Amino acid sequence: MLTRDKLRTHRGAIYSITLLVPVIIIAAYMLVSSNGRLKIYKKSKIAMDTIITLTVASDSQQRAEEAIEAAFNEIERLERLLSMFLPQSEVSLINKNSGIASVKVSEDTYRLIKKAVEIAALSEGAFDPTIGQLSTLWDFPKKVKPKNEEIKKRLPLVNYRNIVFDDNQRSVMLKINGMIIDLGAIAKGYTADRVVEVLKARGISSGIAAIAGDIKTFGTKPDASGWLIGIKRSRGDQDGLSGILTLSGEAVSTSGDYERFFIEDGVRYHHLLDPSTGYPAGDFQSVTVVNPDGLITDAMSTAIFVMGRENGMNLVRRLNLKVYVIYKDATTYITDNLRDSFAQQHN
Ligand code: ADP
Ligand code: MG
Repeated sequence: MLTRDKLRTHRGAIYSITLLVPVIIIAAYMLVSSNGRLKIYKKSKIAMDTIITLTVASDSQQRAEEAIEAAFNEIERLERLLSMFLPQSEVSLINKNSGIASVKVSEDTYRLIKKAVEIAALSEGAFDPTIGQLSTLWDFPKKVKPKNEEIKKRLPLVNYRNIVFDDNQRSVMLKINGMIIDLGAIAKGYTADRVVEVLKARGISSGIAAIAGDIKTFGTKPDASGWLIGIKRSRGDQDGLSGILTLSGEAVSTSGDYERFFIEDGVRYHHLLDPSTGYPAGDFQSVTVVNPDGLITDAMSTAIFVMGRENGMNLVRRLNLKVYVIYKDATTYITDNLRDSFAQQHN
C-alpha cells in the first residue's frame, strides 16, 4: 500500500521524500501493521514548521507510545533552542545580540552551530548558517522577489567567518550588527539524529524519524528488510517517484528546487540561495544525500545543491558521499556507493 502526505504548512513546506508505508495524519497513535511479535506504531505532529512522523517497531504498545512521546518532547525542546522564528530561542538571542555581545548557549546549540561552520568551510561558503538576512528577504509563498539593491546591501551580513566561538564560555557572537543565523538547512537533520537516540534509549530498536524531507532510519522492518523511502519526482506529477531507497540505519535528505519556489517571467526562483549572490543557485532539480548522520545529509544536500554541478560533485568525490541527483535537464546521476540501495523509478 502506498499513501503520501501532501500537507502544506503555512511556510509552504512539503514532504520532499515520501515514506512507502501507510501514513495517515492523525494526532493519535496508530497501529499500522504487525509481523509476529513486533508491531509498527506511528504518530504525526506539526512542529518545526513542518510535518513530523515518527514510526517505531515494538512488542509493547506502551513502550512505543512512551518512546514516541519522549521523542516529540525532544523535538519541541530543540525547536525552542534552534528556531530563528521563536523570539526566545537561543538562536534568536544570538541574532538580537549581533554586533553587541556574545551569548552563552546550551550544548546542543553550540555544537550545531559549530558543525554548521565546519560544513560551511568544507563547502567553501556555499552552505552558510548566517544566510538569515537573505532567506528572510525572499518570500516564496508570496512570490516576493527582492530588489537587487536590497540583496546587495545584505550580502556583507552573510559570512560564517564572522561567527565567533568561545569554547570555555560556550558562547557565540555574531561580529556584525544585523547578522542572522538561520539553521533551517541543518537543524531538522540534527533533530532526526537526536530523536533516534531518544527512541533507542527508551528500548526501541527500529523505526524512522521523518522530519519532513530529513529522514533517519534505524534497525530494520519487523520482517528484517530495510525501510523503504521514496524520492519524489521534482517535475510534473510530484506524487510520482523518481527512485526508492532501502535503508536500515542511515539517514537521507533531499534538497530540491520544487519545494518552495515561484516562477516569474519563466524563471524559477527557489529557496536554496547562493550566499555569494543572494539569488537561488542553479544546476540541480534535487540533491539527495545518504549518510549515517542526519546532520550531514541535511546540510550536505543543501551545500551540494548550492555548489552546483562541478564543485558539488568534486566535494562528493572528495568526501566519498552517497548521492543521487537530478540535474536541471532531468538527467540523473547516482554514486556507485549508493547503487545497491536504490531502485530507479521514472523521472
Ligand atoms: P528544506 O528545509 O526545505 O527541506 P534545506 O534543508 O535544503 O531544505 O534547507 C533550506 C533552508 O535553508 C532555506 O529555507 C533557508 O532557510 C536555508 N538556506 C537557504 N540557502 C542556504 C545556504 N546556502 N546555506 C545554508 N542555509 C541555507
Ligand atoms: Mg538541508
